[in-house]
Amino acid sequence: MPEGDVLRLTAERLDAALRGVPLVRAELRWPSAAGVDLVGASLREGVAYGKHLLLRFDDGRTVHAHQRMEGYWRVHRTGTPAAAGRSAAVRAVLATEQWTCLGWHLGMLDVLRTRDEPRLLGHLGPDVLADDFPDRIDEAAARLTADPRRPLCAALLDQRAVAGLGTIWTAESLFARRLWPWLPAGDLPEDERRALLLTARRLIGRSVLVGRRSGLGAVEPAVHGRHHKPCRRCRTPIALGSTAGPGQRPDGAERAIYWCPVCQAPPAA
Ligand SMILES: [Zn+2]
Repeated sequence: MPEGDVLRLTAERLDAALRGVPLVRAELRWPSAAGVDLVGASLREGVAYGKHLLLRFDDGRTVHAHQRMEGYWRVHRTGTPAAAGRSAAVRAVLATEQWTCLGWHLGMLDVLRTRDEPRLLGHLGPDVLADDFPDRIDEAAARLTADPRRPLCAALLDQRAVAGLGTIWTAESLFARRLWPWLPAGDLPEDERRALLLTARRLIGRSVLVGRRSGLGAVEPAVHGRHHKPCRRCRTPIALGSTAGPGQRPDGAERAIYWCPVCQAPPAA
């Protein structure tokens, strides 16, 4: 599933393509958005909050998209064959005279009044990539321990605690802090919870910077996706567990947790 870094880069790309220019074509192929006509509206700004994409138009409406597992957006020059967007997998077409943005395999799409966004997103925790995240760090640290017995890995993945982290940046952050992923969140002192969250922000933020320069996927993970490969610190083979426990196989790619059994050993009993 795309995480906050990918959403941020996607929002920036759509913003650059569409901002300030009236749409000449707008197709939202989604039951709840059927009949919505955005032709003539201009994008005011495209932003991401956690894993949610918000395209705010100058007529007071917001197109809200969630990519779920498979979704992604592509930008093509209007009028080219690639911009036709005829595939059934294309769920959104937003085009100006110059650029056409296609939303492929989207997991959710709806249109709401921009002022109603808080109703939609109010349950989410602070966005790990937002400028105000350091100011909201106490809130995020508290939300992490909403259930103090919950493993750290599950707490970090909970969008109600902190918005924007998926399995990649959860695993990478826990490795960077040398934390056992199944440590109960309430067992981690508050200053260390804050440090963990700021580490997550630094790592996912670096991915955004690298992505801006060189395209997606340029940051080499330390543990994620490296099952059986040697730990970059201690050469121990990287292990694969799930949010359910270190010995559990993931029941879907989303809940896989990669970790180093030596660098991230469980606390001594
Ligand atoms: Zn190691």
